[in-house]
Amino acid sequence: MDTHTTYCSHCQKDVSFIVTSSSRPGGQANLPEGGQLVCLDFGRSCDGNICPLSGLPPVVMGVRLVMSGKEGTEKMESVHGVCESCGFPTELAVINERQGVCQVCGSTNRLVLLELDDGSYVAASATEP
Ligand SMILES: [Zn+2]
Repeated sequence: MDTHTTYCSHCQKDVSFIVTSSSRPGGQANLPEGGQLVCLDFGRSCDGNICPLSGLPPVVMGVRLVMSGKEGTEKMESVHGVCESCGFPTELAVINERQGVCQVCGSTNRLVLLELDDGSYVAASATEP
């Protein structure tokens, strides 16, 4: 998968991205329709209303990055929690203080971070409507 670079007008820097293939079994030469742009520089600074790369809220990019299985430039923290959507105890990738993504099903969970005595966090979560 090739990594491309483009200028992000929100982060005001060059960012790296990949385009996921929409390859289907059968090997027909499909247009890259359905291929999704995944920004590898997604991080805490992506706090705008709309991500210039996707034209969608930044959380969408966070979900894409988590589900792509790629390591982003900015390491995403994860917390233990139970996904409200699929019910699995899992690691929820923390996209921002309020939202985490289930690494099993990709659902966005609302996070309430609870600090434990040892300084680590667990998440109480609720599915986003
Ligand atoms: Zn889930």
